[in-house]
Amino acid sequence: SAALQRAESLILEVPDYPAAGILFRDITPLLADGPAFRATVDALIAPFAGTFDVVAGLEARGFLFASAAAYASGAGLMPVRKAGKLPRPAAQVDYALEYGVAVVEAHDDFPRGSRVLLIDDVLATGGTLIAAHALMRELGYEVAGTSVLFEIEDLGGRAALNDPQLHTVFHS
Ligand code: IMP
Repeated sequence: SAALQRAESLILEVPDYPAAGILFRDITPLLADGPAFRATVDALIAPFAGTFDVVAGLEARGFLFASAAAYASGAGLMPVRKAGKLPRPAAQVDYALEYGVAVVEAHDDFPRGSRVLLIDDVLATGGTLIAAHALMRELGYEVAGTSVLFEIEDLGGRAALNDPQLHTVFHS
């Protein structure tokens, strides 16, 4: 659609953010365009219609798309959070970053066996989504699929994640 084409043009490339040598994809102009944002959310969920009970969004930009996707599909919403943000005991998975370690956490608010669609804005090395997959296994949930707005192909995230149900709307 025209709106989806415009959405692609509204993902801006920001050189040297957050550090020298990194080309950051900035999705805030896409969020600013109502029809482009709506078309993007529709494109994230379209391949998975009827296959999931829950949408999980990865903090923080994944929340923006996952929340709209959950509303549009009538599914529940699971925030997958960074370390130390959840008030009740939470399942937790550590993963390596380029420098240091990060943690993803989620509450156990859904029945075991729930089918979860994972959503994030950008797939880079895949580390974040690999950890989110492990977190779903830890909680006893089934990953129905992984849907990402923008895939940076050179960083090998698709192969690392190895999810046959990976869908990316745009790519480098
Ligand atoms: P990965 O774990 O290396 O695949 O990095 C993906 C995570 O980092 C996602 O949660 C993204 O939100 C964030 N990220 C990595 N690169 C970018 C970027 O260029 N733009 C926006 N977010 C990014």
